[in-house]
Amino acid sequence: MPTEFALIDAIARRAAARDDVVLGIGDDAAILSVPADRQLVVAMDTLNAGVHFPEDSLPADIGWKVLAVNLSDLAAMGARPAWCTLSLSLPASDSRWLEGFLDGFLALAARHGVALVGGDTTRGPLSVCVTAHGLVEPGRSLRRDGARIGDDVWVTGTLGDAAGALAQWRAGGDRDPALRERLDRPEPRVESGLALAGLAHAAIDVSDGLLADLDHVCSASRVGAEIAVGMLPLSPALAAAFDQGQHRALQCSGGDDYELCFTAARERRDDIAATGAGVAMTRVGRIVAGEAVSVVDEEGNPWRSPRRGFDHFEPM
Ligand code: ADP
Ligand code: MG
Repeated sequence: MPTEFALIDAIARRAAARDDVVLGIGDDAAILSVPADRQLVVAMDTLNAGVHFPEDSLPADIGWKVLAVNLSDLAAMGARPAWCTLSLSLPASDSRWLEGFLDGFLALAARHGVALVGGDTTRGPLSVCVTAHGLVEPGRSLRRDGARIGDDVWVTGTLGDAAGALAQWRAGGDRDPALRERLDRPEPRVESGLALAGLAHAAIDVSDGLLADLDHVCSASRVGAEIAVGMLPLSPALAAAFDQGQHRALQCSGGDDYELCFTAARERRDDIAATGAGVAMTRVGRIVAGEAVSVVDEEGNPWRSPRRGFDHFEPM
């Protein structure tokens, strides 16, 4: 079995460089050049086997996803990703597992021009943790506390697909490959976040479910929100796999979407529609006075989700 140093060597060999990396993998710490006219944005997220992904997930999918969830946080801040570090806790020193993991991880890193500049490698239960570093122009970051009464509420992409895949996996029946792709290979909305910086008033990425995450925006901004459940963007795959009650619950509270939810002034509707770049932008409600998120159906009656938000302690 390869030693810890052999594993780190294998990582260093495959990690791509960037001009602003003064010192990457191999010393006690990395040295990075931050431009004088940018602020540094830092996010960290961990994925634990059996909690955040099934034990038998493909290593490449785990690699992709752990970077994706971190880049999604940077996207929700309107930041451009630059660097990342990686902490690996592995039950055994398994170079085949590591190469598979790096296939997924480095494919997504390359897509967004992110350099892996360091990390830590230890033995323990399977767990992967990434810190992602991005850059933003001062004053252009997208925070949770900027929503204003009268703003529209928008979401990117479609909602509920990943949770639909998880529900199918738990039920043990047929699994739709399009839904599965959304669970295993979420696409962080980096370009959308960059396009929305300076346009949106507030933003968050949808990881725990739209209603739970929008509630964080409302608390931070001291406002309420009204969501029209019939306006939530729905993929053909989710519509085909679940009845209306089920898919609406998944769209509202399923989680693991890694779409952006943001608020913006009504006057910016055309500008927001024009940010497109292949990612749908859907208006789903508005910011109102108050402090709660309410959901209404097509008749304007209150709609109640039959399912709570994603529970971390629910067994996989
Ligand atoms: P130290 O004992 O000084 O912390 P390590 O032996 O942990 O050093 O790490 C040596 C070098 O390898 C460091 O530059 C570290 O950032 C890098 N490194 C270790 N593990 C990883 C990893 N999983 N991914 C990327 N770089 C790593
Ligand atoms: Mg160390």
